[in-house]
Amino acid sequence: MNWMRRGSSAVESEIQRREEEQKNKGPYRFFLKTGEMRNVIFLDGDEPDEPISIMEHIINIPGAKFPELLTCPGRQNGCPLCIAGNQARFVAFYSIVDTTPYEDSQGKTIKNVKKILAVKSVQADILIKKRKDWDGLKGRVVTISRTNDKKSASSGDQFERFIKDDKPLKYNIDKSKPEHASIDWSTVLAPKPISELKHFVEFANYNPWNNNGAKPATNARGGGFDSDFGSTSATPPAREMPPTATYEDDVPF
Ligand SMILES: [Zn+2]
Repeated sequence: MNWMRRGSSAVESEIQRREEEQKNKGPYRFFLKTGEMRNVIFLDGDEPDEPISIMEHIINIPGAKFPELLTCPGRQNGCPLCIAGNQARFVAFYSIVDTTPYEDSQGKTIKNVKKILAVKSVQADILIKKRKDWDGLKGRVVTISRTNDKKSASSGDQFERFIKDDKPLKYNIDKSKPEHASIDWSTVLAPKPISELKHFVEFANYNPWNNNGAKPATNARGGGFDSDFGSTSATPPAREMPPTATYEDDVPF
């Protein structure tokens, strides 16, 4: 009966398994509540570290806390989710540092966390324009805000340079330091094998907001996976939050 375990060693191995799972999942994605704003530092976005983009499937699984975000290997390569009718979306990626502090489960304050900024085509276009207007993104402190519109992009839809002492704040990014390095996209975004993607086919057309009694997925930090990251255009409930700017002086540069 190797599917049943008993005692503390089972608990320990479960904790270890979860830690391993989290490690394998890599950095968190950056999300904002409606009406929220945060200051982030861009670690890439200019030549030669231009943003990379993929097509991504968002699969909602009944009862799951998070939707599965799955890189599409391409319909021409036999992607089972494309074949099942789930439409992959364009997503572009930047490495950022979120300067907003938060408390972990042990009550310890954590700040300056490296995160993934995932943006859809509209926001990707805005960032390409900002990069030209601002003479580069790398090293910039950018205030990202999200409007109160519940359908607004959950990774933010407004980007402004953070001004300190009348000057836009920009840091030197030293790529030799691990905390300044870009996220390893080839690892984080690598598509799962076709055989694994097939496991998600049964949920390819599941819509958590059309299903009576099913709860919309929310993320652990309260960011929420809203309609733009869901598989439909339905609007989940979202909590209104006052805008807060939380700039920290002691950024790791
Ligand atoms: Zn696909």
